[in-house]
Amino acid sequence: CAKNHGRGVHRFFEPILAAQIRDRRSLEHDLRHAVERNEFRVVYQPQMAIDTGIVVGFEALLRWQHPERGNVSPDRFIPISEETGSILGIGEWVLRETCREAASWDKPLRIAVNVSAVQLHAPGFAELVHEVLFTTGLSPARLELEITETALVRDPVRALAALRRVKAMGVRIAMDDFGTGYSSLSNLRAFPFDKIKIDRSFIRAVDVNHETAAIMRAVLGLGRGLGLPVLAEGVETSAELAFLGAEHCHEAQGYLLGRPGPIAAFAEHTRDAAGRKSAAA
Ligand code: C2E
Ligand code: MG
Ligand code: MG
Ligand code: MG
Repeated sequence: CAKNHGRGVHRFFEPILAAQIRDRRSLEHDLRHAVERNEFRVVYQPQMAIDTGIVVGFEALLRWQHPERGNVSPDRFIPISEETGSILGIGEWVLRETCREAASWDKPLRIAVNVSAVQLHAPGFAELVHEVLFTTGLSPARLELEITETALVRDPVRALAALRRVKAMGVRIAMDDFGTGYSSLSNLRAFPFDKIKIDRSFIRAVDVNHETAAIMRAVLGLGRGLGLPVLAEGVETSAELAFLGAEHCHEAQGYLLGRPGPIAAFAEHTRDAAGRKSAAA
């Protein structure tokens, strides 16, 4: 009876599994052609200095408009593209596109670009960054690369070598999603980070949740001790922002301050009104 039951379960799941595999194969295939087919675009989310309320930069977030599926989330397609290697072409496209965009702004705001472990470990990564900065004319100091901890553990020696080379150009490195990976603390010491981006799971309800508040204060203390500014991700309420300000967190990013959108939606921050007037005169 147990055997029969087992077979029944099998028969029930096999078609579902087969469909999932087909679905995944088709995504893998489509991802290989998505850059040349112009299916990607970049949206921008503002990052604000909490003490002044001024927008100091933007994070570039990738969007894939699939011809049949519509918008596919980066949480779904980035891992697939990492496994197949197509992230290399996609990541290069994002870097070039965002550096070109940022170089065209009137104000020298920072642009933060997410970099996958696969890109960081690929030979020629530092050369690519150098070439893109040269080609677009973007000042290296305006580029910040966001790296997650999981990107470092695969091959720490290689990762460190790549990070040192881009840092030597003047590019900044931020640790993304801090607190969600493992061995966070030793990574902060071993790698040349310029900033800590604390994951949004530690921001949610930080104003009312004692445990969350204690963790947030500890991370801010850590940042102070190490001389690293801390950015809070995923700030959604003014109460969360007020807490962060009172605790001297440096920067914030989240739906409260602006949802990711086309850069034209943020022209008031990137464009200089005086510059436009004189250009028109
Ligand atoms: P991430 O780098 O940690 O980006 C932050 C994510 O949080 C973004 O999701 C953003 O839209 C979302 N977010 C921002 N503010 C809020 C908020 O107030 N509340 C909530 N609930 N969410 C907020 P998104 O755009 O879906 O990207 C997801 C992840 O995909 C990113 O996490 C990043 O790891 C990856 N990703 C996105 N673009 C790229 C890219 O160009 N290259 C690589 N390698 N990864 C990317
Ligand atoms: Mg990020
Ligand atoms: Mg993050
Ligand atoms: Mg993330």
